[in-house]
Amino acid sequence: MIVVENLVKTFGGFRAVDGASLRIEQGSITGLIGPNGAGKTTLFNVIAGVLKPTSGRVTMMGEDITGLPPHELFHKGLLRTFQIAHEFSSMTVRENLMMVPGAQSGETLWNAWFGRKRIANEERALLAKADEVLEFLTIDHLKDEKAGNLSGGQKKLLELGRTMMVDAKIVFLDEVGAGVNRTLLNTIGDAIIRLNKERNYTFVVIEHDMDFIGRLCDPVICMAEGHVLAEGTLAEIKANEQVIEAYLGT
Ligand code: ADP
Repeated sequence: MIVVENLVKTFGGFRAVDGASLRIEQGSITGLIGPNGAGKTTLFNVIAGVLKPTSGRVTMMGEDITGLPPHELFHKGLLRTFQIAHEFSSMTVRENLMMVPGAQSGETLWNAWFGRKRIANEERALLAKADEVLEFLTIDHLKDEKAGNLSGGQKKLLELGRTMMVDAKIVFLDEVGAGVNRTLLNTIGDAIIRLNKERNYTFVVIEHDMDFIGRLCDPVICMAEGHVLAEGTLAEIKANEQVIEAYLGT
């Protein structure tokens, strides 16, 4: 689904991503691991259009998407989740879902032509979709809670929910488990597996929790010093000498 060829991203003279090449298979939940500073987040940001690559190529379904801005990738179904922005924290969970750009159908002019009735219908459809997403993620009891009051794990579920408002095809998740308790981490894992199996989502997940990676991800790709060191099942990766060395070196 995604092919990354020889990707390089430099900051000043520093090569944060240094010739990374990898493939993400459609329908997979691919794990991206590696010691701190390996270039995982930078790689994510380049693929998702947040950062422009210095050189290299990214294709999606054979189409060159190198350097496309996030909103164009968004329309192709490629999404990178972000923390709920500060200005959204005083809105409710349900309002946060309804605010996802692109979730509305139809053009503005079209809306103006048909007047308020159409807008009301759209809002009803959006509301129904938001409620369906909340139920899927088992956080419907939080729908009227302000997003700013959610725990770290609940916020992650909401971030995942935002991708469901636009029917994403491939979702890049950065550090799902940071500061999230085990129970909620399992809930997030369940949601990812269900989205993968029932809705055909492809996922790429950066995570340090190896239990989580082992439960969800196949294959697992290990990066170090800006490039890909090894790829395989978690068991294969853990037994790989270069990988062991890379982790010991940090
Ligand atoms: P990882 O996600 O694997 O921990 P990152 O992609 O965050 O790694 O970082 C890779 C390297 O690039 C690190 O040494 C980091 O300090 C550096 N880096 C990341 N972003 C920037 C930036 N905006 N400016 C300068 N250096 C950066």
